[in-house]
Parts: sequence; C-alpha cells; structure tokens
Amino acid sequence: MKITVFGTGYVGLVTGTCLADVGHDVVCMDVDADKISRLEQGEIPIFEPGLSTMVERNVSSGRLRFTTDAEAAVAHGVLQFIAVGTPPDEDGSADLKYVLAVASTIGEYMQDYKVVIDKSTVPVGTADRVTAALQAKLDERGASLSFDVCSNPEFLKEGAAIEDFTRGARIVVGTDSDKVVELMRECYGPYNRNHDKLMFMDVRAAELTKYAANAMLATKISFMNEISNLAERLGADVEAVRRGIGSDPRIGYQFIYPGCGYGGSCFPKDVQALARTASQVGYEAELLNSVEAVNYRQKTTLFRKLSAAFNGELKGKTIAVWGLAFKPNTDDMREAPSRTLMEAIWEAGGRVQAYDPEAMKECRRIYGDRDDLVLVADQSQAVRGADALVIVTEWKEFRTLDFNWLKDQLSLPVLIDGRNLYEPDAVHEAGLMYYAIGRGESL
Ligand code: NAD
Repeated sequence: MKITVFGTGYVGLVTGTCLADVGHDVVCMDVDADKISRLEQGEIPIFEPGLSTMVERNVSSGRLRFTTDAEAAVAHGVLQFIAVGTPPDEDGSADLKYVLAVASTIGEYMQDYKVVIDKSTVPVGTADRVTAALQAKLDERGASLSFDVCSNPEFLKEGAAIEDFTRGARIVVGTDSDKVVELMRECYGPYNRNHDKLMFMDVRAAELTKYAANAMLATKISFMNEISNLAERLGADVEAVRRGIGSDPRIGYQFIYPGCGYGGSCFPKDVQALARTASQVGYEAELLNSVEAVNYRQKTTLFRKLSAAFNGELKGKTIAVWGLAFKPNTDDMREAPSRTLMEAIWEAGGRVQAYDPEAMKECRRIYGDRDDLVLVADQSQAVRGADALVIVTEWKEFRTLDFNWLKDQLSLPVLIDGRNLYEPDAVHEAGLMYYAIGRGESL
C-alpha cells in the first residue's frame, strides 16, 4: 500500500518505518527541513532502540523515503497518517494547530480519495475538526473529492516503540466507514496475523480510549506515590507494600512502582488535556485533577529530600545526578523529574554534575552552556568530588553499585534514590545516608 506519514517524531518515524518494514511503500513528510535532511543522510534524530537499523534497511530497499515536499507527500498515499505533535495549550488543553495544519495541507493538494488517519493523541471531537479543516480547503479550491477521517491512536512507549508497534496488545480504529475498515485491515494485516488485534469502534470512543489508557496508567503511578508518601510517614516499607498488593491479580505488579513522578511527552499533557475536556463539557474530573496534583508534588520530592539532608544549605554544593531522561532507554527529557530537580538545585545556588547514557545532548540543547551544569562521560565522573548523589532515572547500569566506593567519592555521604534501586540495609552498612521513596525513613 502507498502510505504517507506526516511528522517524523517518535510516533511518525516509528509508524512509517514499521509499515515500510512489512512491505508498504512509505513517504514520511516533516516541515522540519533539518530533521529531513539528517534522516536522508541516515542520521536518526532520536534515540530509540533498534530504529536506526530498521530505517537503514527500509531506506536502502526503497520502501521508505523522507521529504519536506507536502504536495508530493499528499499525492503519494491513499492512507495519510497524521502523527504530528499535540503539545499542551496555555490552559492545558491539547493544541491542535499542527494537526489542523496537516488537514489543510491534505485538502490543498489531494487529487483523489484519501483516508486521513489521526494517529496523534487528540481530544474527542478532533476528527470532526480535521474533516472541517480539510473540507474548507477543498471548498476553497472548488474541488469535489471524497475522503474519510478515522482515529487510530498510538499506544507505543518510547524505549520499546518498535516492539510495541509491531506486537502491541491492540490496534484501535475509530470509524463508521466500511471502506476504511477494509483499508485499515490491509494496512495492519502483516501485524495482525497471530490473532485479530484490530478493534473497530466509533470515532469518539477511539479518541477517548487513548486518553483513558494514559490517564489510567498515570493514576496507578500517582496512587503508588501517594501510598509511598504515607509509608514514609508511617515507618513502613512501600516496596513490601508494592509486592503485597501486586500479588492480587486484580491489581497486578505492572506499573505500581513508586518513584519521583511521571514525566515524558504523554502522561502529563494527556491527563491535563482530559481534565480540560471534562471541564469543557461541564464535568469536574476530580480524580484526574488529583492524579496531576500528586504528580506535581512528587516531582519536588527529590529536591525536598536533598535540601533537608543539607539543612537547606545547597549554595556552593555539587550534586551528582544520575539519569536525565524521563525514563530509561530514551533521550527524551520532556517534563522529566530531572528537570524539576536540577532547576531547584540551581535556584538554591548549587551545581549539578550529571550523567545519562543517552540524554546528555538533549540536556545541553535544553539548558545550553552554564557554569552550574557539568555533563560528564560516565557515572563515576559524576560522583567524583560531589557532595551527594541523586538517582533520577532507573537505567539498568545504575542497578548495581559499590556502596563503599561511593562513600569514598562523596564529601557528605548522601545517596538519594528516586527509584528504590537498592536494599536500604546494604547501603546503610557502607555508612551512607540513604533516602529512597517511601522506605520508612522520612526526610
Ligand atoms: P514529536 O514532537 O517527537 O514529533 C512531531 C513531529 O511533527 C516533529 O518532527 C514536527 O516537526 C512535525 N510536524 C509539525 N507540524 C508538521 C506538519 N504540518 N507537517 C509535517 N510534520 C509536522 O512528537 P511525538 O512524540 O512523535 O508525538 C506525536 C503525537 O503522538 C502526539 O500527539 C503524542 O501525544 C502522540 N503520542 C506520542 C507517544 C510518545 O511516546 N512520544 C506515544 C503515543 C502517542
């Protein structure tokens, strides 16, 4: 099938590449000329395990091409995926300007029937707005052409994006058109052989499914963080509680790790956007508002503990930070807890000495050159001469640690662990002061 994908970010590039990999003929279009020229030269602008070899394979087979030429991109595919960003607007609702711009572009150039597919995460009712924007352009041209708009939200996780796209639990499609059902079956057929994962539903249900899924996951995290804050104040170990509740199959072990708050480009903005959607229809989404408020507070936890360990005196202190990405296996720092922490350290007059296996370039891009931020080549350089270590992201390589060695590196032996990576007794034995999340010690 001929397929066009608008947007070559995490979702667009993975979608285009995976669809090319099963034999479709894919053109990926982006308005960012620099991104497209890097992609054309074989450089992948994001870090995503396995993506680079997959792109290379499909570019060299001729099934995957990149362009900034909107007219050629619209001409190419019968399927036109919209996978552009939907950042939060000032009031937290999803900003649809990029999505609607693509709809207008398609209306401007299309010469035959197209299926326009909303893959971006968009609020309920967006398919109607995409239809209107596209139709307005056709009317302007005096063109009478038919098209369908459907919703096909994406559930991939950064860091496991290819695995999720190719072996995801479900493929949700919102449409009321039999023709779209048939075309989407053909598009996803190669990824739908083992059992039928395609779920067809009405457009509004599909749009809401994506927000409901992210809101549910964010709720699990905020719930567990709330319990961890209680555990800390009650002298209980939240890790024991986690195992205790996870063993109940109605609860399960997945996604109930306490930590330093969720970040990334999806949970924060999607929870907010769903809450705004609710208030627009006159419903006060109290649970969603609380999920967001708990997370906001949780992101300040690491700094609060750090500041308490130094009696509020962080001026002139050097803090080692391990992990900048919002989670392991990505270079994405959007809404990352590391940013809340570092910005608070700087505000208090401290310096940061940081290491992340993938996100240092992104960190430099965000914060530029500044005297109070030193990015170092490995974990040990980050702690050398530092006053304390804070672990923010649970990269695999941080999971084992020689606590005696660490104690020798730090001037004040403080280890703050935002991911509960270690056994408290083992850390204390080495003479370190250890503060994790909800492990019975209040700080
Ligand atoms: P991103 O910011 O990484 O990429 C968006 C891309 O769209 C950019 O390269 C930008 O230049 C391009 N773009 C903007 N306007 C354009 C236009 N008019 N034509 C062509 N390209 C244009 O975003 P992302 O993380 O890939 O997210 C895209 C959407 O998918 C969002 O709605 C997001 O909520 C959703 N989503 C993201 C994830 C994730 O893990 N990142 C997962 C599921 C869903």
